[in-house]
Amino acid sequence: MKQKARISALLALLMILLPISQSSAYVLSPCKQQFDLPRQVSFCWGGEAGQSGSIWQNAYLSAAASWSSAQSYIAWYNVSSSRNMMTTFFHIDPALYGEAEITYNLTTRYITQCVMKLNTYSLGGKSANFRQSVACHEQGHGFGLGDENSISPAVMNQNRNREVIYTPQSDDLLGIYALYGSGGVDKLPGSTSHR
Ligand SMILES: [Zn+2]
Repeated sequence: MKQKARISALLALLMILLPISQSSAYVLSPCKQQFDLPRQVSFCWGGEAGQSGSIWQNAYLSAAASWSSAQSYIAWYNVSSSRNMMTTFFHIDPALYGEAEITYNLTTRYITQCVMKLNTYSLGGKSANFRQSVACHEQGHGFGLGDENSISPAVMNQNRNREVIYTPQSDDLLGIYALYGSGGVDKLPGSTSHR
């Protein structure tokens, strides 16, 4: 009788623990952004992304809109004095689509600067969806997500089909929730562990 109760308690515990260990697949940076407005992170334009109507600015704007509409409860907003930048670069490497250069303050656990870059060399001949996918991925780094190549679909997966996966997926959103919470409550910096 006692043994039976112990086994069913163990089974109940396993059923609670299993979904948790499966859902924590996203990879987080050691730090996250400090909000400039409630639930919003600022950015300024740079390079060819500074030209309104350009394919580069459109890729970033579509990607930012997708983060907002995906119930991430977090958004980018444009202000010229921002520490974060969405810009372009030119690098002759057909497999290098984008980069995010991130500077952290490991004491405060905040990202102090993020420069997101789209490679005009490798992306110029690609589709709008493809460019948006890269912009969405770099913005994910800007929010504090790391590359996640073991989960599919995920916009943070470097091996994703960029023509198909160009908006945040559920694993990406779980990563954002782990960093910032999912509703009105802002989690403290450094309150999440990363792997
Ligand atoms: Zn990446």
